[in-house]
Amino acid sequence: MSHRYGALERLLTASLILLMLVSSCGKTEKPNIVLIIIDTLNADHLGCYNYYRNTSPVIDSLASSGTMWARMQAQAPWTLPGMVSIYTGLTERTHGCNDYDGYSHGLDPELPTIVTMLNDLGYNTAGFVNINYLGSVFGMDIGFEYFLLDDEGHGRAAETVDQFISWLDGDEFSEPFFVVFHLFDAHAPYDPPGGFATAFSEFGTMGVTNWQPNEDGSVPPGHAEHMCALYDAEILWIDSQLSRMFQGIRQRLLSENTLIVFTADHGEEFMEHGQWGHSQNLYQQSLHIPLIMSGPGIPENRVDSTVAGQFDILPTVLAYLGEDIPGRIEGINVLGSDMTEIRDIPSSGVRSDSSQVTILNGNKKVIWSPVGDCSEMFDIVADPFETDYLDVDSILLSRVLEYWAWPRLWEPTSTQLGIIEKKKLESLGYIR
Ligand SMILES: [Zn+2]
Repeated sequence: MSHRYGALERLLTASLILLMLVSSCGKTEKPNIVLIIIDTLNADHLGCYNYYRNTSPVIDSLASSGTMWARMQAQAPWTLPGMVSIYTGLTERTHGCNDYDGYSHGLDPELPTIVTMLNDLGYNTAGFVNINYLGSVFGMDIGFEYFLLDDEGHGRAAETVDQFISWLDGDEFSEPFFVVFHLFDAHAPYDPPGGFATAFSEFGTMGVTNWQPNEDGSVPPGHAEHMCALYDAEILWIDSQLSRMFQGIRQRLLSENTLIVFTADHGEEFMEHGQWGHSQNLYQQSLHIPLIMSGPGIPENRVDSTVAGQFDILPTVLAYLGEDIPGRIEGINVLGSDMTEIRDIPSSGVRSDSSQVTILNGNKKVIWSPVGDCSEMFDIVADPFETDYLDVDSILLSRVLEYWAWPRLWEPTSTQLGIIEKKKLESLGYIR
């Protein structure tokens, strides 16, 4: 289903980037790479993605300094499967990391990831993450030489930046480095600190900070708007902490040779389709996430409007480094080539119904659910809120069903969550 670029084209792209690297910094050492993943960040809530509130001045300037993909899709609507797609370049159906058959399924230890592959290329690897799904229980710590996990990591943006800066100054630091930097603050409850709480809401955190749905799942009038204002304030808070992080990189004269890749694991919905949070459906509020790359050789002030996916991040980083992209990877290099080809971007992995699948192809998106054999089609450019039901394109639907039947190619580990871990995930709304 995914179309791959020919060897010659890849070689040309890699050579071009290497040339740019030499000319921009006068040296050919491997660039450092910082992969920033903001948990629960819907691209539509960022200034650079045309949001009406000023939530993200620092992220916006990161976008101006590099290339931004306007149409970036998550491969799944919640943390574990989306993160594994980022790490492995695979779809959710292929890697199989999700909840099903009464178990959580973590990464197959045999499956190479962006962490293990860059470590094999000589990178010093460090992880700063804030939820269990990115830890050893799910095999997500493999390949890190330095790893800090806070499994109750909500509201820890400032501390996580401090930890990152301490690491830059510590004995374990060396170049080239690859860092995964994950923040959990934008996830509910929405309780940004100090003055940030009232940035977009008169009452701030004096009001409720977590969803309080009625028995039937509906919410009181004004509730979603209040939640949304606090969520946006969390983004502004995170943005302020990213400013400190980037300053830390600049002050140590590392920016010239550091690639920043900025993305999210999934989005968040505010009753646009009658539901709140994420992990429950495959509408764009849960799937439309940011992707920004900025650093040596990356075109500045460029917006790429071709559709990309989380599974493109690993192959794009490999191509950027001039490395071959292994044949198992389902994503493609989305940098340095004008993608005129329209391709299928699959997403799946709804938690309560892991069989639900969708494919986005150009503007057309077909969602299929096995419950009642129900299919829907939207033009997400003309109708970004997916309210105008179109006649379903039978050819695209057949590819959606083909994706649904796709065999799992790896063997995820089964994890029956311990009681303490279960309680933590329950408190975050992951287990209901
Ligand atoms: Zn998440």
